[in-house]
Amino acid sequence: MSVQSMTKTDTRDIRATVEQIKELEECGCEIIRCAVPDLQAAGALKEIKQDIRIPLIADIHFDYRLALAALESGVDGLRLNPGNIADPDKVRAVVRGAKTRGIPIRIGVNFGSLPKDLDPLLSIPEQMVEAAFRHIRILENLDFDLIKVSLKAFDVPTTIEAYRQIADKIPYPLHIGITEAGTPRQGMIRSAVGIGILLAEGIGDTLRVSLTGHSREEVYAAYEILKSLNLREHGPSLVSCPTCGRTEVDVVALAGQVEQYLSKIKKPIKVAVMGCVVNGPGEAKDADIGVACGKGKAVLFKKGLQLKTLEEAEIFPELVKEIEKL
Ligand code: SF4
Repeated sequence: MSVQSMTKTDTRDIRATVEQIKELEECGCEIIRCAVPDLQAAGALKEIKQDIRIPLIADIHFDYRLALAALESGVDGLRLNPGNIADPDKVRAVVRGAKTRGIPIRIGVNFGSLPKDLDPLLSIPEQMVEAAFRHIRILENLDFDLIKVSLKAFDVPTTIEAYRQIADKIPYPLHIGITEAGTPRQGMIRSAVGIGILLAEGIGDTLRVSLTGHSREEVYAAYEILKSLNLREHGPSLVSCPTCGRTEVDVVALAGQVEQYLSKIKKPIKVAVMGCVVNGPGEAKDADIGVACGKGKAVLFKKGLQLKTLEEAEIFPELVKEIEKL
């Protein structure tokens, strides 16, 4: 599974776009897509590509000249729906260009832009699948098979159903995601549910979490989804209890401090911050490092062994000290 995101800068602003991609590379983004609204943006991709390490996808709608210019710029992939380019000769020119260079094309079906002439008796997921097949057939008829497909909607059950329907009907990789999922608070949950169900069923090869927010939040959420299904390791995991009437240390503040500290660490370690002796020792022992708190104190565990008992004020600094020794 590869994590994809999209830049939110003006692609024509090369400096800002490269800066954003570099930041996303740091966060673990593995494929980046840039919107190509005009020929200047398509041309800018050449310079952008030279300054980044991860594959660059050009996101193109309708205008075949933008696809040709993006290919000239050396992009690693196109997102383009060939059925939206009316003239077959123009589609042929794009496909020829992509084929010569060995560049894949992702067909991105989106609920918001389904063709108007689809059979209204079909369900929405069926319509999405049919729309994808229309585009797929165009490419296949031109003897092109470097195809990726996505079928995104805002509605989670619709999206899941569409992917389920197409998954065993085509041999091509699927890019998955819930589109227009909203701001991070709502969008992360919608994405986690939708993408999580698909991944648990073995569907999906690349993914994007679409959020109305900074792209680093998209990458962060993508990895949390993959980590929660044990599909990828990425940075630390924090096990922390929800707290309850038994909690006698400020676990909320402590977990917040630990989370902030861990955000700067890349190593895939598991850290536990637990409120009491009910579940605390078990989780703390299972983690690489963990504390089980009690009345104004905590027991520190490392790799399953009980190391020492700490006063409340010592918990955070001692945790940090021990994490740094790992
Ligand atoms: S670990 Fe203890 S303090 Fe934390 S929620 Fe469970 S019972 Fe409550």
